[in-house]
Amino acid sequence: MIYDISVAIHKDMIVYKNRDKKKPRFKQSATFEANGVYETDICMNLHTGTHIDFPLHTIKDGKTSNKQDLSTLIGPATVYDMMHLDEKITADDLKDLDIKKGDFILFKTKNSLDKTFNFEFIYVDHTAAKYLAERKVRGVGIDALGIERAQPDHPTHDTLLNQDIIILEGINLSMVKADSYTLYCLPLKIENVEALPVRAILQK
Ligand SMILES: [Zn+2]
Repeated sequence: MIYDISVAIHKDMIVYKNRDKKKPRFKQSATFEANGVYETDICMNLHTGTHIDFPLHTIKDGKTSNKQDLSTLIGPATVYDMMHLDEKITADDLKDLDIKKGDFILFKTKNSLDKTFNFEFIYVDHTAAKYLAERKVRGVGIDALGIERAQPDHPTHDTLLNQDIIILEGINLSMVKADSYTLYCLPLKIENVEALPVRAILQK
């Protein structure tokens, strides 16, 4: 069984804080009438929809997409149900979970039910990021376009990215239950960038 936990990219999709400049723009660059074939140009921010962040996103001179080891983007993952939380995920919310070294942690929250951008989206706070980093997880995914908000100096990003822990943002987990899966989230091979859209799927 395969679950597509990616969000669709289209011109009216949900974008961060509803900012117009974050919306992808599509333009026909060839048409059958003029060119005999059909082609489309796309212009979009790399943090559009389902994507991973590389260290350069929040750390000056940090690692880019060139340095990502693909073997970390395929492998075991666990979905944890955090639907009971209303604001954020803290270390306290994780302490009773059996979080294993090398696992890719995916948080299913109420965000997965949002139909419009929610300015109060549930996020991973800095205490949870530290807790996960100490457990040496492989990656952390959240069903919001950002893994954090309302934290000066983005400590959640820095804590995870400093330890080469992958941040997967903008997934949708409404159709999957808390369980263990195999995750695939492979980006295009675009060089020297700070983030890349991925097609993220879970296999059971
Ligand atoms: Zn991002």
